[in-house]
Amino acid sequence: MRYETVIGLEVHVQLNTKSKAFCSCSTEFGAEPNSHVCPVCMGLPGSLPVLNAASAEKAVLAGLALGCNIQKVSCFDRKNYFYPDLPKAYQISQMYMPVCLGGGVTIESEDGQTKTINLTRIHIEEDAGKLVHGEGADAEFSFVDLNRSSIPLIEIVSEPELRSASDARLYMQKLRTILLYADVSDCNMEEGSMRCDANISIRPVGQEKFGTRVEIKNMNSFRNVQRAIEYEAKRQEQVLSEGGTIRQETRLWDNNNNITLPMRSKEDAEDYRYYPDPDVLPLVLDDKFINDMKARLPELPDSRRKRFMEDYGLPLDDADLLVSDIKYASYYEEAVKAHNSPKMVANWVMGEVLRVVNDKNCGIYDTNISPASIGELVALIESNKISGKQAKEVFALAVESGKTPATIVKESGMEQVSDTGALEAIVQKVIDESPAESARYRAGEVKLQGFFVGQIMKASQGKANPKLVNDILKKLLS
Ligand code: ADP
Ligand code: MG
Ligand code: ZN
Repeated sequence: MRYETVIGLEVHVQLNTKSKAFCSCSTEFGAEPNSHVCPVCMGLPGSLPVLNAASAEKAVLAGLALGCNIQKVSCFDRKNYFYPDLPKAYQISQMYMPVCLGGGVTIESEDGQTKTINLTRIHIEEDAGKLVHGEGADAEFSFVDLNRSSIPLIEIVSEPELRSASDARLYMQKLRTILLYADVSDCNMEEGSMRCDANISIRPVGQEKFGTRVEIKNMNSFRNVQRAIEYEAKRQEQVLSEGGTIRQETRLWDNNNNITLPMRSKEDAEDYRYYPDPDVLPLVLDDKFINDMKARLPELPDSRRKRFMEDYGLPLDDADLLVSDIKYASYYEEAVKAHNSPKMVANWVMGEVLRVVNDKNCGIYDTNISPASIGELVALIESNKISGKQAKEVFALAVESGKTPATIVKESGMEQVSDTGALEAIVQKVIDESPAESARYRAGEVKLQGFFVGQIMKASQGKANPKLVNDILKKLLS
């Protein structure tokens, strides 16, 4: 029996607002435990939550960037459950009337196909607090940190339309790129700003009905999402091939042993006893608000990639890499604006600049070399002021010192001699000093060209423009 994997992802994204979803406490990461709390986010009786406008704005920006239908009226519901990090014993969420419906994410699958994965919905909800388990002398205690309690999240739910673990990873990566463009989250997966629950089932190829799904909770890296799905699909196949049945359950990804482990049998929506939150007003949006958000969105990656190929003549792979991060894309465009040589500039950004980004593990704007300097450097090469080899040195010096390439070239006297008159004088002098070689060259021994070039470079202290030297040499020796 051959099986097909069916995957739907629920992705939680922490919105990058300054204050929490329903109070004015700070959302700053890594603060002293319980230093960003108030009666509202601690869930004290009598406190009243009021939705922060920035949370609504960011949720709508995300929805617009993902092509969703923005709902003019959406409502908040209570999702009830007990856990020590949740003092109210419910989370404020949007069950029945979410802020966004529909939308989709387009991926370039590894099989070469372009696929659009439809979204079911996006809703706003608040995060829970965090349990910190004690160590050493505190090993028998657990502590509650409510700094994260009520930080705004959106949950992005896909239709069960993904068919492979690698497509699921590509979907996550594309989603992250788009959300970073829309500036709704820092999408920092290590800090948990973007985390994924994967729903996985398998069915015999050709069967329409979906199999029973298993949910794998809270994965926070692309690699883990892909590996967990691969593992889980194989596990389910094993169970079915042995005549067993799949239980609907929630499992955990065990990162150290590369397996999924059962966590609990899956609760259904009924178990949460969702009901409309009587304390929180519906979110009502007008056309002006939605249009203002549209105006705030930058050009999105797919459109930008197309434009890079059309306007700058870049190959697909270059355009893909340059738009994969909004900062790479704008850095590149600033450099091209400084010197209009799109392909050469792309090569320098993708090669040398991104190498520094990787080595220093820093942002592209923190490499110490500006986009204008990259433009200037390419201009110096193309006007024959410096050779490609020298350009690499200039680049390294620029990154080290923060000086511009033109300044470095001037200060180090690196500039190539491209003045034809001056070069002709040097070439003539070398020819005059080597009468025997000149005669042999003129008699047809053209391989002596190398000897002459070497002498000329020496005479010019390496500064002669090699291309001009060759031309002049041919002229004067012929
Ligand atoms: P819950 O919030 O309880 O997990 P939802 O109905 O919102 O349940 O579904 C969550 C996710 O499960 C969605 O992304 C959906 O696409 C996916 N899904 C639903 N049925 C299946 C299935 N049979 N196989 C794989 N994924 C599924
Ligand atoms: Mg779920
Ligand atoms: Zn608060």
